[in-house]
Amino acid sequence: MPSLKAVLAEIVQEMAAQTDRGTVASYIPELARVPVQHFGIAVATADGQVVCAGDADTSFSIQSISKVFTLTVVLGQIGDALWQRVGREPSGNAFNSIVQLEHERGIPRNPFINAGAIAVTDALLGESLPREALGSILSFIRFVAGDERISIDKDVARSEQETGFLNAALANFMRAFGVLKHPVEHVLGVYFHHCAIAMTCRQLAMAGRYLAFSGRLPASDTSVVSTDRARRVNALMLTCGHYDQSGDFAFRVGLPGKSGVGGGILAVAPGTASIAVWSPGLNQQGNSLLGTLALERLAKAMQWSVFGA
Ligand code: GLU
Repeated sequence: MPSLKAVLAEIVQEMAAQTDRGTVASYIPELARVPVQHFGIAVATADGQVVCAGDADTSFSIQSISKVFTLTVVLGQIGDALWQRVGREPSGNAFNSIVQLEHERGIPRNPFINAGAIAVTDALLGESLPREALGSILSFIRFVAGDERISIDKDVARSEQETGFLNAALANFMRAFGVLKHPVEHVLGVYFHHCAIAMTCRQLAMAGRYLAFSGRLPASDTSVVSTDRARRVNALMLTCGHYDQSGDFAFRVGLPGKSGVGGGILAVAPGTASIAVWSPGLNQQGNSLLGTLALERLAKAMQWSVFGA
């Protein structure tokens, strides 16, 4: 097996030479001005190490990757009751599609499309105030990453709020069907803020360890969630983590992964590694173009796959 450090160095070199880097998200100025040239990767392994290359210590907007953490928090609070409000099937549709929602009477297909994540955020609000719900998400991420510096980019949150008309439409639709229980402004406020959390690849790889290591943080052997729960979140990442490109990601990379429009991807090689990659240019489905390619290269070189040794 080649050394991880050497493989990452090679990947950084290959990605630097790519001329087609995809297109940076342009719906808010804070994302539109991120230089497309960035590329970072970090891999947290079972022995407590984090091997990094490229811009692994530059913060970026984690956007939809936050949906993995909100799902974990809400499952901890209400368990399987969540599945009365959100499905577990791949959507085959764009991340912000409203079409399916009408057919399925306001029940979103899965927790990772926008409608599903908004329903998860509503469930997470429970009896708490928006600020408390947001606090619990942020505390969870800081805890699993082992890093108290992780915070919300307020400018991104404000811009999301100013431009989030489609998300508001999805939320109002679900509220009309009784799927959302809280005022739409409260739910969206929390949703936009958790999407605006900024992290580096190093922090994100650390934060994903509980998914890679059966619900535990390997070095300290702290339990975060049960083994079953970690497996199930991984299953959803594999089947739904890349919107209407989830099948293609599974085919090419072979690992559970969750992307965000900031260009980040969190991927998990169960029992072996938690991986974070960041390249802000997106493909047509809104997933990081080079992030996906880099994960494909890494998984092949290290022979990491959930589909067989
Ligand atoms: N904040 C983005 C939205 O709701 C997240 C989408 C994404 O990362 O895929 O539109």
